[in-house]
Amino acid sequence: MVHIILGGTFDPVHLGHLRMAQEMLNRFPEAEVSLMPAAYPPHRPTPGATTEQRIDMLKLVLETSPNFVLDTRELERDEPSYSVVTLRNIRLEIGDNPLIFLMGTDAFSKLDSWYHWRELLDLSNILVVGRPSSELPQQGPVAELYQAHKVSNPQDLAHHSCGKIGFCEMPQLDISSTYIRQQIKSGFSPRFLLPDVILDYIQKHGLYGYQSHSPKGN
Ligand code: ATP
Ligand code: MG
Repeated sequence: MVHIILGGTFDPVHLGHLRMAQEMLNRFPEAEVSLMPAAYPPHRPTPGATTEQRIDMLKLVLETSPNFVLDTRELERDEPSYSVVTLRNIRLEIGDNPLIFLMGTDAFSKLDSWYHWRELLDLSNILVVGRPSSELPQQGPVAELYQAHKVSNPQDLAHHSCGKIGFCEMPQLDISSTYIRQQIKSGFSPRFLLPDVILDYIQKHGLYGYQSHSPKGN
């Protein structure tokens, strides 16, 4: 079985995340695609929802998309987990099966700032997905890593337990959680950027400064 992990803060989950996960199911029909929310540092103000609310929103998505899996392992510790530590854990569970860590070009281009980043490929493959306003790095350590480990066809990642990097283009959606939070804060509706059930939840709980009187444009 191929394991594909999309890590993120999902604050809130939106159609950019979900379309990316769906493309994975389409391209790797045998795979298990997990959404894995990351912990925010404890005792610090978070951009928006609490951990429980971020989990609630992901669970609402799973009700209508049962093909995705929710992996809350990073929220079960008090400290934010380093990806390399999380991947080590996952690797212990899945043996030699292919593991694919999914990320947008924005996250990939900053990979060299991650804790023990060079070790990531000893544990997993990486699949980079094109995201608006960011490109694959052309020079520097991450570009070199990409050149040394890239596969020409992303489907090939399903035949490697770890160590390879793929890049795939899919129809790009210029949606981010930051934009959604900003829209809500400014009193504008974020409708059609995220599932309606998530917007309903945001309204019900007054998240991100949502005002119960109708937002502009909705
Ligand atoms: P924020 O604006 O709060 O950073 P975000 O929209 O970037 O939120 P994250 O939870 O940070 O969402 O993203 C998790 C992962 O999903 C990252 O690897 C990111 O690159 C990727 N991702 C998020 N949105 C998109 C999108 N619209 N297209 C492609 N990749 C995306
Ligand atoms: Mg982000």
